[in-house]
Amino acid sequence: MTTIKTSCPVCGDVELTPEQMRLVVCSKSDWSYYSFNCGTCRDEVRKPADEEVVSLLTSGGVRAERWVIPAEALEDHTGIAITYDDVLDFALGLDRVDLLAAMIIPRVEA
Ligand SMILES: [Zn+2]
Repeated sequence: MTTIKTSCPVCGDVELTPEQMRLVVCSKSDWSYYSFNCGTCRDEVRKPADEEVVSLLTSGGVRAERWVIPAEALEDHTGIAITYDDVLDFALGLDRVDLLAAMIIPRVEA
């Protein structure tokens, strides 16, 4: 059985089986990570996983979960952030669009 040695920031060295580890490989490689629940302190420990770590863990039997970041999430955004009021105004505006659409669409007479 494969044993993977890593460390918990609180408890120190930890030995895990591949099934006890979670490996998330992101399309943006800087965001890839592995995590596990420490058997001593029960905390979830999460650490970055570069290509070498991903290779080591997968060769050790850890199943990789693929995570694709939508391109829109990586776009640069400028301007002020939207507020809850903006979202509420948008939702209220959608109601007005429905009313306008109802006026435009001809009624089907039965
Ligand atoms: Zn721990």
